[in-house]
Amino acid sequence: MNKHALEIPQWDVVVIGTGMGGSAAGAICALNGLRTLVLEKNPRPGGACSYYEKEGFQMDCGTHLFIRGNKGPFGKLTRRLGMGTPLEFRHTKNTVHLKGMGMDVKVPRSLGGQLAILPKALVQSGISPMQYPGIYRLVRDLMNKKPHEIDALNHITVEEYMLSFTDNEEIRAMFGLLLGLMFILPPWEASAGESIWNLQKLIKEANLGYPKGGAVAIPKAFLKGAEMHGAQVRMKAGVKQIEVENGQVKAVVLRGGERITTRAVISTTSVFDTVHNLVGQQHFPAPYVERTTAIKPSWTAVQAKIAVRKPVIDAGSLVGGTPLKLDSKFSDQFLRDSIGSLERGEFSNMVPIYAPVPSNYDPALCPPGCQLITAVAVAPTLDIELKDGEQRWIDGMMDSMYQLVPELKENILFYDTWSVKTLAAWIGKSNGSAITTSQTPDQVGLKRPAHNTPVKGLYIAGDCGGHARGVGTELACQSGMDCADQVTSDMHNYVLGDAILRAG
Ligand SMILES: Cc1cc2nc3c(=O)[nH]c(=O)nc-3n(C[C@H](O)[C@H](O)[C@H](O)COP(=O)(O)OP(=O)(O)OC[C@H]3O[C@@H](n4cnc5c(N)ncnc54)[C@H](O)[C@@H]3O)c2cc1C
Repeated sequence: MNKHALEIPQWDVVVIGTGMGGSAAGAICALNGLRTLVLEKNPRPGGACSYYEKEGFQMDCGTHLFIRGNKGPFGKLTRRLGMGTPLEFRHTKNTVHLKGMGMDVKVPRSLGGQLAILPKALVQSGISPMQYPGIYRLVRDLMNKKPHEIDALNHITVEEYMLSFTDNEEIRAMFGLLLGLMFILPPWEASAGESIWNLQKLIKEANLGYPKGGAVAIPKAFLKGAEMHGAQVRMKAGVKQIEVENGQVKAVVLRGGERITTRAVISTTSVFDTVHNLVGQQHFPAPYVERTTAIKPSWTAVQAKIAVRKPVIDAGSLVGGTPLKLDSKFSDQFLRDSIGSLERGEFSNMVPIYAPVPSNYDPALCPPGCQLITAVAVAPTLDIELKDGEQRWIDGMMDSMYQLVPELKENILFYDTWSVKTLAAWIGKSNGSAITTSQTPDQVGLKRPAHNTPVKGLYIAGDCGGHARGVGTELACQSGMDCADQVTSDMHNYVLGDAILRAG
């Protein structure tokens, strides 16, 4: 008889990772009564939403703003856990300072304020007034699409949707960039349905914000809920291997050699890393392995965490990039040329910047009177070789920030930069992508990889799998919750074999 055949598993479910996906999954598994163990390889929880402290500044490991606050999956989860809404999402008067590439306009949080600045933004964009009626029709269509109409656009790109609306290149480039960049994808790769769904949430809910306590306050709240419902959470517990026997999960083996038996595993690293590095592709049918290899990730970013002596940005974030002014029109072709070089790993003259300012939402994240800026410049994933070397991208991002914020350089106390490699090592996803299964037309809705896999008891969750919608963190949280409910249902319905056995 097989040496492990009579083992009563120590846990019903082991969750790998404490990012948005893992912490949400762990909390719901525990709430549903499963004996839940959450394992995290890092010393601090949160994954991409984790943090570190330096000279009185609390730095985010990723770079975030949150679209829906308590109105989306975060609030849904904490309410389900019986915690009410402990997360306090804060807002700034101007959510975004749009700067560079010909623009310089502050976008207020309120819809009224946004409408008021629209004429200024249109003049700055250089789009002919002849095109304004077309823009009005486009915006009306985007805002009024019903859920079933949005679903019907899931499997076409933003660019294809825009082409059906206007032949004006500047409008297509501007709106295409806005819609696609929520998913760190160009308009010819991002799903139109997914983009429109999220844009509607962003504008109609007008809730873009950032939590008191920093991004990590969100996964910390979920993990507190998990523990409240009986889960055990362990830090510095990296999983080396998911052990599979006869097509069924048996155990996880930690990097130190400890073996922990379990009926199910929810993995929140990427699908590729789960299949190829943690389980081993020999345990999966060839078509599944092929599919995991073909998953397209989003792009990612090089990052800077910038400590400043005094406030130099007054909005909640700075979005735009350099050049500050354009010699030619902001056209489709300009976008394709700039992004084309990115795809080839060549540094481009156009540097798109996204820079949330956490301390404008929570001043306690830095010493009194100072400011904390988190900045990113879009960059390729690690599978694309950087022709100009990593440092060129980091220098380019900082140079772009200095041009966008003239007072920045002389007021910097210090800054830390994160290459894509640093990010990849922290989040444990080998290509360092921002969203591991990107929201392209063939990877949204039911076409995203399912939570369950061909290995019995092995599930995937987070931004890599499940059929949820949303931008990054909210997608991952919803996916974690959905996956936990599926695992629970599978256990209660004997999908994983025996009824739930209790040790001792
Ligand atoms: C630069 C950047 C900017 C972004 N901006 C935004 C934004 O503004 N808004 C937004 O909503 N989203 C944004 N995102 C996307 C968002 O951060 C992610 O989609 C989301 O946080 C992913 O959550 P997750 O739980 O799926 O994975 P992660 O947060 O990556 O968590 C995975 C966890 O698993 C752990 N882990 C991995 N392997 C192992 C192992 N073998 N053993 C134990 N633990 C392991 C990791 O340490 C990590 O803690 C951004 C991402 C990046 C990189």
